[in-house]
Amino acid sequence: MQTESSNLLNPLELLKDSGIPKHLLYQSKIEVDHLICPICLNILWKPVACGQDKCFQSYCEVCINKWIQEQAGDVVLQESLYSQSLIVAPDSGSGSQYSSQSSSFSEMPQQIHVETTLPNCPKCKRPFKKTSIPIIHNLLDSIQLSCIYEECTTKPGYEQFQKHILQCPYRRINCSGCGLQQLQNELEQHENQCEQVSIECSKCLNKMSRKLFQLHSIDDCVQSQFTSKDNQIAQLSKKIEELNQKNQLLEQKICKMLKGDSFDTMHQFSFKTMFTQNYQFTGNQAIEAKLIRPSFNLQKQKNDFLHFYINHKIKTQAVQGIIWRMRIQTLKGNLLIGICSTLCHYSIDFIINKLGEIKRKEWNENKYKLLRKGNFTFSEGDTLTFQFMPLQQCLRITNENRHIVCRFEPTEIIEMGDSFFSFFSLENQGDSLIFI
Ligand SMILES: [Zn+2]
Ligand SMILES: [Zn+2]
Ligand SMILES: [Zn+2]
Ligand SMILES: [Zn+2]
Ligand SMILES: [Zn+2]
Repeated sequence: MQTESSNLLNPLELLKDSGIPKHLLYQSKIEVDHLICPICLNILWKPVACGQDKCFQSYCEVCINKWIQEQAGDVVLQESLYSQSLIVAPDSGSGSQYSSQSSSFSEMPQQIHVETTLPNCPKCKRPFKKTSIPIIHNLLDSIQLSCIYEECTTKPGYEQFQKHILQCPYRRINCSGCGLQQLQNELEQHENQCEQVSIECSKCLNKMSRKLFQLHSIDDCVQSQFTSKDNQIAQLSKKIEELNQKNQLLEQKICKMLKGDSFDTMHQFSFKTMFTQNYQFTGNQAIEAKLIRPSFNLQKQKNDFLHFYINHKIKTQAVQGIIWRMRIQTLKGNLLIGICSTLCHYSIDFIINKLGEIKRKEWNENKYKLLRKGNFTFSEGDTLTFQFMPLQQCLRITNENRHIVCRFEPTEIIEMGDSFFSFFSLENQGDSLIFI
């Protein structure tokens, strides 16, 4: 139950769980008996009615909702008893279909059981079907009520009642400073004088009670302005420091990406090959690899090559990747170039030749398929640059003399990772490459 003082502060508490108290009825030209809620016995508030034939009883909306909730609680309780196969007496109301069959009640299918215990209208005991009866609203509109505040002489109609009790000048409101109850129409005047109301100094932006504000001297104000500025500066300095640290980390990252954590350009080569007798490596700075045997297989098939490996494991995350250069000294037929991932044991295996064709070996197939036709041409003496960019997963070959670029896109070179080595194969005796 609400205390009277809380109703004075929050008048809506009064209508939270019942209708308008009967004693607030000021005047009515009609008999008010059928405007009374049978649950709370007060004047109907926001009425809803039972829609069952010959009932049409009206209730306050809050009252009937509360009733329905209580009934629903009973249903849950009865169901749990039912599930333990206990014989539960059915609703004794006249609406129950099973009142004469209580012995077999526990065998009733659960669905029917629930139906019989649906919340019923308190009056007719049949399931409550919510409806609205316009005449009740019209009758309610014709009555006149008293305000809940004794001092108030206003007599609001039913429709204006809620609005009035909220705006009534006699409503009590707590002062934001001292917390004491004030009449609504005197609150402003009180708060303009109350010593405990909080006031913000327009210069230092500090909040303090009116009492302290009156003692707030210029010295105090300037002092606290300095203090708050000092705090702001300290916070900003801290932020700047954090940003600087982030910036440094980013710079380091970018540097690492640009330079990589390995060398970018291969300028020193060492070679290994299973077929040492096939190749001759000469030179110091620029090494020439020359095929000196006609074939390693007497039944040499087309596209048989003699391999040699560049003995470098390369690992880089640099944006520009790895660059190495090679001059074609002598080349009668095809040159095979391979780049092999040390991570996934996958290699890009392709052939270039003087016709400008680029052929590529499919994964797990021992056959080279034409990938580009006639656009990447070169001749003996031309220098080729290879650039493998792990970040973009792409390989670019440039003919420096002819300014032709051939680019293998990520879709053409299944992911290589950032660690790989390369190998070359020559086909015809006397072919030679110079690595520079
Ligand atoms: Zn009621
Ligand atoms: Zn009813
Ligand atoms: Zn009033
Ligand atoms: Zn006050
Ligand atoms: Zn101040």
